[in-house]
Amino acid sequence: MNLKRLGVLTSGGDAPGMNAAIRAVVRQASALDIEVYGVYRGFQGLVDQDWRPLSSRNCANILQRGGTILNTARCDAFRVKAVRAQVARDLKAADIDALVVIGGDGSFTGATLLSEEQTIPCIGIPGTIDNDLPGTERTLGFDTALNTAIGAIDRIRDTASAHERLFLVEVMGRSSGMIAVHTAIACGAEAVIYPESATDTYEELVTQLRAGWVRGKRSSIVVVAEGDQQLGNAYAVGERLRQDHDLDLRVVVLGHIQRGGSPSAIDRIWGSLWGAEAVKRLAAGEKGCYLGAQAGDLVSIPLARIHDPRPAPPAVLTDLLPVLGR
Ligand code: ATP
Repeated sequence: MNLKRLGVLTSGGDAPGMNAAIRAVVRQASALDIEVYGVYRGFQGLVDQDWRPLSSRNCANILQRGGTILNTARCDAFRVKAVRAQVARDLKAADIDALVVIGGDGSFTGATLLSEEQTIPCIGIPGTIDNDLPGTERTLGFDTALNTAIGAIDRIRDTASAHERLFLVEVMGRSSGMIAVHTAIACGAEAVIYPESATDTYEELVTQLRAGWVRGKRSSIVVVAEGDQQLGNAYAVGERLRQDHDLDLRVVVLGHIQRGGSPSAIDRIWGSLWGAEAVKRLAAGEKGCYLGAQAGDLVSIPLARIHDPRPAPPAVLTDLLPVLGR
């Protein structure tokens, strides 16, 4: 295929580093004489044909900004085959030959269908703060979100320590404990509750906190992933602890502050690398894959692998938690 024009979109939850990827797509394409159309609000923009040319100048001063200049959205209509078929016809009519899709597993499922069922060449760039995609050790936004959570918990630690209090801090991760476990290690949390843990029980948490108290700890931080099925969210755990043990504890939900903010160096660099590489690979005729990182190297993963089991927090970290939380 002689690639003349490609589209780029961001889909699902926004993640710091998406703008770095968009900028690199546009600038690498410009270097190869390929036109880029920015598609607004993810797959919804494909359905609405809401796309406009993006120039290198449109991408000035966006590298350091969180969010996404293309906006993002969830688009249920895209789950319907007839809608995707119309999108493919519209893309072909607009001479948009290929797409770069920046998003998480849902977005890559959409990209797989567009690529295989509708024969629109697609390459994905992992953009999700959850870091829960198969085959890649990192995704855009994870490093920034971690650093944001860590900064917030450092502040909470000061007041926890001053008042000799227990704090339950809820972090993002509806079905992934990646943010929770990494944050817990980096903040010296006394305990962490996360979805993939087979051993998390309320009794265990109480035992752990009690043991800390006996050893002289007068303040504790417990990190809770928002998606823990067994124990519930931080409010549910806090309520139970309050009722059972009459504890003077506080609950903090970090929420959307974890999504925003200027991307870290790592998210800017990988956004730039993946953005440029996606264009080079599409121009070389590659398609049906998403980019990732393995042992520091840039890798390409077949889009079909998006249905593989999600990576769990690494055992090397989870094994360390009880030791460091003493
Ligand atoms: P995040 O990890 O931040 O949630 P995500 O890409 O997983 O990002 P989703 O909301 O799951 O976010 O998916 C984004 C969009 O991808 C959906 O709104 C929908 O348009 C499309 N999508 C998801 N699943 C499918 C599917 N099975 N078929 C077609 N399109 C889909």
